[in-house]
Amino acid sequence: MSVSSLQRVIGRFKRPLKVVNICFIFVLIFSTLLTWREAVVLENAYVSSQRNSLDNIATTLDRQLQYNIDNLLFYRNTMYYALQSPISTDKSRKALASFEELRTLPFWQIRLDINRSLPLSGVSDEFVSSSRLLDRDAGTIHQELEAALEFSYIMRLTDSKNDLQRRVFYASRSGFYLSSTPPKDDPQIISRYYRLVAQPYFTAQSPENNPDRSLEWTHTFNPASANGQVITAAVPLDSQARWYGVVAMDFSIESMHQFLSDARRDADEGTILLYDKKFNLIASSANERPSVAQFTATQQADIARKVGAASRGDEGELRMDSRFVTWSKLNNFDGVLVKVHTLEEGVQGEFGRISIVIGILWVLFTLMLLASWLVIRRLVHNMLALQTKLTWRANYDTLTNLYNRGAFFDIARSTAEQCKRQSLPFCVIQMDLDFFKSINDRFGHHAGDMVLTRASAILSGALRAGDVAGRVGGEEFCIVLPGATIDDAARVAERIRARISIKELLLKPGQTAKITASFGVSSALEHQDYDFERLQSVADQRLYKAKQNGRNQVCVSDEDE
Ligand code: GH3
Ligand code: MG
Ligand code: MG
Repeated sequence: MSVSSLQRVIGRFKRPLKVVNICFIFVLIFSTLLTWREAVVLENAYVSSQRNSLDNIATTLDRQLQYNIDNLLFYRNTMYYALQSPISTDKSRKALASFEELRTLPFWQIRLDINRSLPLSGVSDEFVSSSRLLDRDAGTIHQELEAALEFSYIMRLTDSKNDLQRRVFYASRSGFYLSSTPPKDDPQIISRYYRLVAQPYFTAQSPENNPDRSLEWTHTFNPASANGQVITAAVPLDSQARWYGVVAMDFSIESMHQFLSDARRDADEGTILLYDKKFNLIASSANERPSVAQFTATQQADIARKVGAASRGDEGELRMDSRFVTWSKLNNFDGVLVKVHTLEEGVQGEFGRISIVIGILWVLFTLMLLASWLVIRRLVHNMLALQTKLTWRANYDTLTNLYNRGAFFDIARSTAEQCKRQSLPFCVIQMDLDFFKSINDRFGHHAGDMVLTRASAILSGALRAGDVAGRVGGEEFCIVLPGATIDDAARVAERIRARISIKELLLKPGQTAKITASFGVSSALEHQDYDFERLQSVADQRLYKAKQNGRNQVCVSDEDE
């Protein structure tokens, strides 16, 4: 677009600079909105990617846990059906006979077969009767022992190497236990049995504590485990209204930890944490267990509140200081998986990089927009200044700041028309400086210009509101006076004459001069003629007369006085 056509377009608007400002503000707002929208889309994508990655881990963990829980329930059922109708064999009868011999000893072990079964490890009758929770019932003890001996074959087959579980065991209220990691036949049996039945996973399975008889998860302290903690899933064994004991499975914290570290694919993926239902940390995907807590007490309470309100398998997200936290409840575990993604990790990730690029693009675009805004503003400003200057030059005389001949004639004609329409008086004064040529000759052209400037200033100062003056020749001026009678006009002319003639002008250092002017006045009312050119011509003739009569005077009629 060329400058002139741009100028034309801008010229159509009343306030072109305002239009330019509004346009640029509009573009800036629009580009910012667009960038913001882009950022929102990106953020949503980031949130779903975080959720998806945690979901995948939760699903895999759930699947693994489901496998173990299925096994646990299978073991409980095995025990249950064996209790209903135990298989009595010579070997089992022999084992029961040895139990009868050993039952009063502080500790004992019985087993069916050295190679293919696991031993039952037990404590004395006295130990059992000392606890209210325990009960070696004479009517059911043989049946239970036979069932446990049968179960010991199957328990032998459990494989703790390939899944998350570390140990399966059956702890009986009748003072014995069966474990997939059997103890030696030594006094430690007493303390191990004591620890088994004193732990919450066991006590929580009493009919009062677990009326639903459901599977319960516990997270307890166990000095035998490498990091001092153990996660246990336990189910009660009931038959014919008697609570026999608990079939339970211990999970190793190390295997949970291993599982979580394996699930983390990249370094910038974030940290995955597994919490129990009381929000104690179980395991983390970090290479080392975090030495400081990941969350402050209030943050932890905030997460716990949200998680607590959620049902199984529910998920959600939270923003905590600069971290993004996603959580997902597990279907097969009484706890929650939490993923913590720090700002640093976010910036290194794919979404972080895209956000940075979008941010930089927005900044660059905004800078370019600002630069072009400044340039266009300046351009428009200059064009407007030029336009004003040209318009002024077209209508005004640069020396005297009065209307030039062309503009003055236009205004004078339309003023005359207006007075004619409104039947108002209308007068014209024609003024010419006296002996001006000699000023030029004596003081130079520059001094002549100065006189013209001063004379026009005096002239403008003596006019009434509504009178219009113009420079119509070299040192000739014309004034139109709408609404003025010939007497009014004569008074105005006389006032100008007097003011000009009274002034002594300093034209050169030490040289002053007095100037005078002659005036001719005409009125439309004389012949009811409002034609400006004719009125000006009459005024000019009267000016000529004033010159002839000796100059420095006002002539208002054609008659000689
Ligand atoms: P008169 O009293 O008869 O009017 O005598 P005069 O010398 O003023 O005569 P006239 O009006 O014919 O003179 C016009 C002179 O004004 C001629 C010219 O040198 C001078 N003049 C016209 N325009 C300008 C101007 O813009 N600047 C200057 N310095 N002189 C101008
Ligand atoms: Mg003159
Ligand atoms: Mg003249």
